[in-house]
Amino acid sequence: MFKKLLLTTSTLLAAQACFAQDAQVLNLYSARHYSTDEALYDNFTKATGIKINRVDADDAGILARLKAEGTASPADVILLVDAARLTKGDADGLFQPIKSKLLDDAIPAAYRAKPAADGGTAWFGFSTRARVIVYDKVKVKKDDVDTYEELADAKNKGKVCLRSGSHPYNLSLFGAVMEHTGEAKTEAWLKGIVGNMARDPKGGDTDQIKAVGSGECQIAVSNTYYIARLLRSANPDDKALMEKVGVVFPNQSSWGTHLNIAGGAVAKNAKNPANAVRFLEYLASADAQNYFANGNNEWPTAKGVQVTNPALQAMSGGAFKSETIPLAAVGANQAKVQQMLDRVGFK
Ligand code: FE
Repeated sequence: MFKKLLLTTSTLLAAQACFAQDAQVLNLYSARHYSTDEALYDNFTKATGIKINRVDADDAGILARLKAEGTASPADVILLVDAARLTKGDADGLFQPIKSKLLDDAIPAAYRAKPAADGGTAWFGFSTRARVIVYDKVKVKKDDVDTYEELADAKNKGKVCLRSGSHPYNLSLFGAVMEHTGEAKTEAWLKGIVGNMARDPKGGDTDQIKAVGSGECQIAVSNTYYIARLLRSANPDDKALMEKVGVVFPNQSSWGTHLNIAGGAVAKNAKNPANAVRFLEYLASADAQNYFANGNNEWPTAKGVQVTNPALQAMSGGAFKSETIPLAAVGANQAKVQQMLDRVGFK
């Protein structure tokens, strides 16, 4: 059981009043927006007796709120859904180093911040999601959409639907492309995508998949868990939609499919830091990792945890090649990517 609080300044005082310092409380700021996580949090409270007070907002909203609150912030744990924002939170000094042998042992180095000089780690990734291409199986050949580069190819003119270029999922994908192909090629690529759009960017990833289903476009980009959710849906409309669309993990014969990370950190001014570390350690447990895998259809990061999710299995064919680039680079490229989006008119 936990309180949900709206993210407005008017509720800030009330929030601070009820976020009293208490050994049996954990104040969580979360950008995870998945209803299946409720069970994940309930399970922690049942196991530990620690009550969770949760604030829901998006990644940028949480980072802004932490900055505004400063030392008065009641936040103990921060959960974000984008590696670049985790890196930014660290760079902005909003987290405190975590020292946990359990987390160091459980989470591979590729899915966490580089250790600081004192051996502490700023954040750990607890699940991954791939950003893949969805297409109309009747009108588009898989071969024509099996690389990110082809989103910009003239053969796909008038066919592409995307959410806003400035959304963190796209900013991180574009930042990764810049890391792989360089600045000039990335800008030309973004310009090509704008030229291929069936309509201006709008909506979330699920809306793009539905736009392929309705025939408004024929090619879209989505995080894997949105696709898995539709694949597992009992709704006849969703079933019909997923009959129509194909899914491709791009760039299997080059640099691999873009992966993003959802992860957690301990707030710089945490009032309950021990509970915060305990919560993050819980997220690395087999139980919690299973919630990520089967509740929200993400891939778990903890060593030795097996995925038993038929939708993820069916979608990826079991294994796929994912990119290997420094996470910090993806974040560092985003300011340049944003300027490119402005120059090429990518909304
Ligand atoms: Fe999402």
